[in-house]
Amino acid sequence: MFLFLTYIQLTMASGPTVLMRLVASAYSVAQKAGAIVRRVIAEGDLGVVEKTCATDLQTKADRLAQMSICSSLARKFPKLTIIGEEDLPSEEVDQELIEDGQWEEILRQPCPSQYSAIEEEDLVVWVDPLDGTKEYTEGLLDNVTVLIGIAYEGKAIAGVINQPYYNYQNNGKRTLREHGSEAKAGPDTQLGRTIWGVLGLGAFGFQLKEAPAGKHIITTTRSHSNKLVTDCVTAMNPDEVLRVGGAGNKIIQLIEGKASAYIFASPGCKKWDTCAPEVILHAVGGKLTDVHGNTLQYNKEVKHMNSAGVLAALRNHDYYARRVPESVKKALVP
Ligand code: AMP
Ligand code: MG
Ligand code: MG
Repeated sequence: MFLFLTYIQLTMASGPTVLMRLVASAYSVAQKAGAIVRRVIAEGDLGVVEKTCATDLQTKADRLAQMSICSSLARKFPKLTIIGEEDLPSEEVDQELIEDGQWEEILRQPCPSQYSAIEEEDLVVWVDPLDGTKEYTEGLLDNVTVLIGIAYEGKAIAGVINQPYYNYQNNGKRTLREHGSEAKAGPDTQLGRTIWGVLGLGAFGFQLKEAPAGKHIITTTRSHSNKLVTDCVTAMNPDEVLRVGGAGNKIIQLIEGKASAYIFASPGCKKWDTCAPEVILHAVGGKLTDVHGNTLQYNKEVKHMNSAGVLAALRNHDYYARRVPESVKKALVP
């Protein structure tokens, strides 16, 4: 009792830790970015730019959301290292893009003791302002997420995922032009949601569900496939293969029981794609690695590309790791 009171008194005296304040801000900032992603569609001009090729795109929403996320966090936490996906000219960001809020419910949560002494300059934030851009441009709006991952000593420890079009029923057949600004949730449901998590505390904002027992439902890329990717998926002895966009979206499928494993045996996926999703999966007992079974590193000096692919599962990660063909492992050097 005495110890408990002392802990509460200490927490109240010093206020929330840097990590919990950052997560609380990242939650509000990700919500704002999600609103920007919806607004760009509603306004109708996506401003699509090809980065390296026709399947590697950037839109006005990627640009505005990144400006909003990075500037908002940098203002509040000037000593953070923030690494965003998009290369943008450094220019004054419109005040209208700045989000100053913090999600109060997170501030009330206890910080896991191993993270309580972390200082701002110890943290690296990996930002994917819009994950699933290719699908966004094709109107597969529920594939899209905003990802803010937080790393400490090279390890992903906290993360926020906003899914701007959660509850929006997209049948996958209608084009972007057809639904235009009509995207909305069904009756009595709210459009969009935010999932967050901290290792040692848990993950929140969704209902954890396991995939059907004894079935191997594999989720993989829709827009970036190749022979290695399909060879690896086939080697998993799948009962079903789902091809959807976005790393964030695929991790959500794992934690909501829609898929048993996420397999991507190819380079192309980057640290900002995996940092936040990895935390959410790990916080509920899952595992995300490369195809060799190695954990991923998130320190600021690390190369951005996940060159040895992604292998993730809520349960039975070993089963999938054992089945990765030697030829695939040989082709994918970490
Ligand atoms: P996907 O599963 O295809 O949606 O890919 C997950 C994430 O990795 C997305 O952010 C993609 O843009 C990125 N990605 C995967 N493969 C490639 C690639 N070949 N070129 C560019 N980005 C890629
Ligand atoms: Mg991405
Ligand atoms: Mg992106």
